[in-house]
Amino acid sequence: MRNELTIALAGNPNSGKTTLFNALTGARQHVGNYPGVTVDTKEGSYTKGGLSCRLVDLPGIYSLSPYSEEEVVARDYLVNQRPGVIINIVDASNLERNLYLSCQFMEMGVPMVIALNMVDAAKKRGIEIDHERLSALIGLPVCPVVARSGQGITELMATAIAHAQEHDKWQPAHISYGDDLDAAMLDLSTMIEEGGFLTRDYPARWTALKYLEKDDRHLEIGAKEDHALSSRLLEKVEQVARHLEQTVGSEPDAMIADHRYGFIKSILKQNVVHRTMDPDRLYMSDRLDNVLTNRFAGPLIMLLVLLGLYNFTFTYSALPVAWSATFFSWLGGVADTFLAEGYFKSMLIAGVIDGIGGVLGFVPLIMFMFFGIALLEDTGYLARVAFMMDRVFRIFGLHGSSVMAYIISGGIAGGCAVPGVMATRTLRSPKERMATLLTVPFMNCGAKLPVLALLVGAFFSENQAMYMFLFTLLAWLMALLAAKLLRLTVLRGESTPFVLELPPYRFPTFKGLLIHTWEKTWHYIKKAGTVILGISILLWAMMTFPGLPDSERQVFENQRQEIIRQASPQLPASPEDAGQAGPEARAMQKDLLEVANAEAEKALRYSVAGRIGTALEKISWLPGFDWRTNIALVGGFAAKEVIISTLATSYSLGEVDPEASDSLGETLAKDRSWDAVKALSVIIFVMFYAPCFVTVACIVKEAGSWKWGLFSMTFNTLFAFLLSTMVYQVGSRLF
Ligand code: GDP
Ligand code: MG
Repeated sequence: MRNELTIALAGNPNSGKTTLFNALTGARQHVGNYPGVTVDTKEGSYTKGGLSCRLVDLPGIYSLSPYSEEEVVARDYLVNQRPGVIINIVDASNLERNLYLSCQFMEMGVPMVIALNMVDAAKKRGIEIDHERLSALIGLPVCPVVARSGQGITELMATAIAHAQEHDKWQPAHISYGDDLDAAMLDLSTMIEEGGFLTRDYPARWTALKYLEKDDRHLEIGAKEDHALSSRLLEKVEQVARHLEQTVGSEPDAMIADHRYGFIKSILKQNVVHRTMDPDRLYMSDRLDNVLTNRFAGPLIMLLVLLGLYNFTFTYSALPVAWSATFFSWLGGVADTFLAEGYFKSMLIAGVIDGIGGVLGFVPLIMFMFFGIALLEDTGYLARVAFMMDRVFRIFGLHGSSVMAYIISGGIAGGCAVPGVMATRTLRSPKERMATLLTVPFMNCGAKLPVLALLVGAFFSENQAMYMFLFTLLAWLMALLAAKLLRLTVLRGESTPFVLELPPYRFPTFKGLLIHTWEKTWHYIKKAGTVILGISILLWAMMTFPGLPDSERQVFENQRQEIIRQASPQLPASPEDAGQAGPEARAMQKDLLEVANAEAEKALRYSVAGRIGTALEKISWLPGFDWRTNIALVGGFAAKEVIISTLATSYSLGEVDPEASDSLGETLAKDRSWDAVKALSVIIFVMFYAPCFVTVACIVKEAGSWKWGLFSMTFNTLFAFLLSTMVYQVGSRLF
């Protein structure tokens, strides 16, 4: 009698693992998480009709290479826990990419059945798959299912359990990798089998394959097991690699990946996939594509579409943005009237209302922008943009799949680098992937957008849409140049080919557009209400404490007394009453206000944040940043929205003009220390300096080393500093 059977669910992220797991176990798991939020595995049990087993939901992965934690976790689980069988969940509408992982499970030899999921969605997109034919060609059971409705899952489980009982040994599939590598695989496998090298855990063919791929983790395990044999295997691998380099100019791991895709293609070509799309619609799509992706007209139309998007956004959002600015200054006024003087009032007005108001004020703009993007995405035009950009990307040593990562990060406007960095997982070549994930933070994400909008609105108000458009192009240009630089230096290597399938154009539904717009906008609002609020209060505290020492305050107090004493004695003593009085009284009031402003500014400079900002002026004069801007930029490392909230807070703390109900944009536009050149220099710095904290954490995780996170922070900041310095130094001499 054997122990209870364990079945592991494995597949690409978003293939529906969690949905299937929930359908099978009845557990309420979180569905639709970011790819890779959790790396731990979830467990549950399945019982139905006399069959029972334990189920494990493995993290979503694209391959079995050791590039990400998820991949390592999944791999180790299979080897150490030895599930009786795995259910490999495959997204039917994305078969080719999903089967790449299946192929590697087959090479490993673990007993497996394929769950062909989302056949409902595939059908809607006009894709039908002959699962019996696929099963016959691939040599594994294939069960069509709809995880979301539970259709087909009882059959799936019966098949999986039967399969586990028939196959209790791992049997690696023999895929051909070309003559040279096949011969090498044979030699290596023989050496491995004779030495009994790791064969308790891994099939010899798998170890041979991993050695050819130079899989760091497997090499490490091998070296620990038997150092001498491991070195002999590596020698052999080097020999083959040299031979390949000379004959075909390629490396073993690239060759292996190519042959895997070849294997999948050869299967799919044999009438496995049927396209049932309405021929009229396909025809229409093709006709449209002839124009929209035309070599010459395509890029031009793309630029016009972009410009149109910005025009649309700025034209229609101007009024609501102004309303919300009015609302927040009204709110500040109310708080000012009804609250007693003190730290709480200062925190509420300067920290919370001005800080968060600065960020939330841009909600209408963000919403219009997201609506435009949703329109492009839902019609299928965005896929065309990726297609056209692919040609350009190649020149810069990147891959077609990089385009999507760029767009997700805000390449058109208002994305986020965190999912962007994660999206690079679809890239097979580690070097192309690194170059992409290090440069996606250059895009204008949703958090930088309001900073740009603020400064563009204040200093380049004539042509806002045009400037946004130019800044978008600049972001791409710089990202591509930086990528090229990386690919020529630290990330030198071959590029891999790319095929992207263009889905047919669709008419978006208005409801769909609204939902997409709202999802993204809500994300922005939520962030402002939580993370940004916290940071905003923290920064307010840093800008308030320590307060001026008594001796300093006394100096200002004395000045005030002096002004009042010098004014004619018949004047009212308090500035409030002076309003009704004559010109002399108003002059006194103005003097008093000047003293108060000087005191507020001195206090701000004296605070922790002020000291940091002032200290940084020693280098920041080069790109033209004053100490207030420095505070905002340092705060911006926590999250880019904080740049606005911090500027808003520092200007409202450093100013005590009772008439000042100006929005931050107006305040900056009037401030004598700001001008267009400085604004431009700040914009450029904000666009390119260190990615925000969360993105850096994500880069560290995806790149597998904190060194890349550090690299990204220093490289980007230096890059931005140089660029801004250039702009400021040249600009301020010219204008
Ligand atoms: P995981 O990342 O592999 O765990 O994928 P999830 O279980 O989170 O599913 C990703 C998305 O696909 C969710 O929005 C699901 O609702 C959806 N989904 C899962 N299974 C099906 C299915 O059979 N049909 C359709 N149409 N959608 C599905
Ligand atoms: Mg999941």
